[in-house]
Amino acid sequence: SEPRRSLSLFLESGVYRLEGSGAVFVDPVRVLNRSLARFSISPSDYYPRFFEPGPAEAARGGADGRKRKRRAKKPLVLNERERVAAQRHQQEARPFLVKAHESLLGATELRAFMLKMKGEVAAAEDRKSMLPGVPPSFIELGRLWQAPLYEITLNFSQEKPTGDGGPLIVHSKEQKVIPIFDNLVHNGTEDDLEAEFLGSQYVIPRESCFYMSDLQQIHKMVPVEGDARFHFIVIDPPWENGSAQQKLRYPTLPNKYFLSLPVQQLAHREGALVALWVTNREKLRNFVEKELFPAWGVKYLATFYWLKVKSDGSMICDLDLFHHRPYECILLGFCDKEDMDPRDLSRLSNIQDKRVLISVPGDYSRKPPLEELVLEYIPGTKPARCVELFARDMRAGWFSWGNEPLHFQELRYFQKR
Ligand code: SAM
Repeated sequence: SEPRRSLSLFLESGVYRLEGSGAVFVDPVRVLNRSLARFSISPSDYYPRFFEPGPAEAARGGADGRKRKRRAKKPLVLNERERVAAQRHQQEARPFLVKAHESLLGATELRAFMLKMKGEVAAAEDRKSMLPGVPPSFIELGRLWQAPLYEITLNFSQEKPTGDGGPLIVHSKEQKVIPIFDNLVHNGTEDDLEAEFLGSQYVIPRESCFYMSDLQQIHKMVPVEGDARFHFIVIDPPWENGSAQQKLRYPTLPNKYFLSLPVQQLAHREGALVALWVTNREKLRNFVEKELFPAWGVKYLATFYWLKVKSDGSMICDLDLFHHRPYECILLGFCDKEDMDPRDLSRLSNIQDKRVLISVPGDYSRKPPLEELVLEYIPGTKPARCVELFARDMRAGWFSWGNEPLHFQELRYFQKR
C-alpha cells in the first residue's frame, strides 16, 4: 500500500513525503548516513534533546504549569515591528505550517515508527560509553597566534588485492600531516578517512573538504578555478539573538559583517541556488531583503520553513508563542550567471513557495539537511558542487567552511559500520 511504500522509502533515504501538503519529514541521521561508507552516525548522539525519555523533556520546562500560567497572564504589547512579525506569522507561515503538521499527524505509519525510534534512542543512551576527554575547541585554538602551527594528521588506508589473482590483500597506510587552520584540507578519495588532531579522532567523508578559518580569511577559500565554484550555497550565519544558550555555544556577529561574504564569487558560472537560514526577527528579515541579498547579488525566490517536532509528532512549543516559535525560515535566492541554462532559470522561477520540512531537532542550532527539498532546483552540471558557510560538519561531496567545520565530525558522533 502507499503508506507502507513511503515508510520503506523513508527507511532507505531518511525522507518521507507527506501526502496532501507537499511537506517532507526528514530524519537527518538517515540522510547523513547515506553519504558515509565506513561509519554511521548514531541517533542517540544526533538527537540529544527530543528523543530523550519523557522526564528529561518535562524537566526542561515543558510541564512547568506555574511558569506557563504566568506567561499567559502577562499582556503582550507589540511594537510596530513586532506587529508586522505577528502578521507575517499569522498570514504567511501559519496556514502552511498547520497544514504540514496535520499531514504529519495523519501519517500513522511514520508516527508509530518515530515512537519506536524514541525507544531505541533511549536504550542506546543507557548503553552509551562516552569517549574520554574533551575535544579541543577549534574556535579558541583558531584565535591563538600559534594557530598556523597546528596540524591535522590524515590517515589514508587502502585495501588493495595484490593483482596477481591471489586472495592476498595489501593494506597500505599513508599519513599526511598538514596545517589545520587557514588551509584547504581535502579527502579526494572515495572512502571515509580518519584524521587525528590533538588526541581526538575525526571522520572526513569521501570527496569532501574543509577550510577552517575566521570570517576575515574567507576570501582565501574561494576557488580560483571557475569550474570549482558552487551550484548550491547554504549559509547559516551566527546571527546575534541575545540567547544565553547561544553565547555558550559559539560567537555571534553583527549583521553588517555578513555583507562582505563573497557569495557572488562563490557562485558557479552556471548559476547558483542560495539557501540562507534566518531567525524569526522582523528586523533581520528586512535586512536580508533590503540589504544583504542585494549586496550579494542574490535574487529572492521563496521562503521555506523548518518545523520542529518531538518524537511523538507534536510541535516542540506552541505555534503561536510570540517570542519562541517552533519553526525557522530558510530564504531561497539565486545568482544569475553568464552560463546559466535558460531551463534552469525557468525551473527556478517556478519554485513552489512556503514548503515545509519537518524534523526532530538535533543538537543546539544544528540544521537538518535541505537538499531533499531543493535538489531539482539546483542549476548547472551534475553532480552539483555544494558549499556550506559557517558549517559545523562535513558531507560527502561538499565543501565546508567556518571556524569549526570539524565540530560534529568528531568520532564520538559516529559508530563504525
Ligand atoms: N549550520 C550549522 C549546523 O547545522 O550545525 C550551525 C551554524 S551556527 C548558526 C554558526 C557558526 O558560525 C558557528 O559554528 C560559529 O562558531 C561560526 N562563527 C561565528 N563567528 C565566526 C567567524 N568570525 N568566522 C567564522 N565562523 C564563525
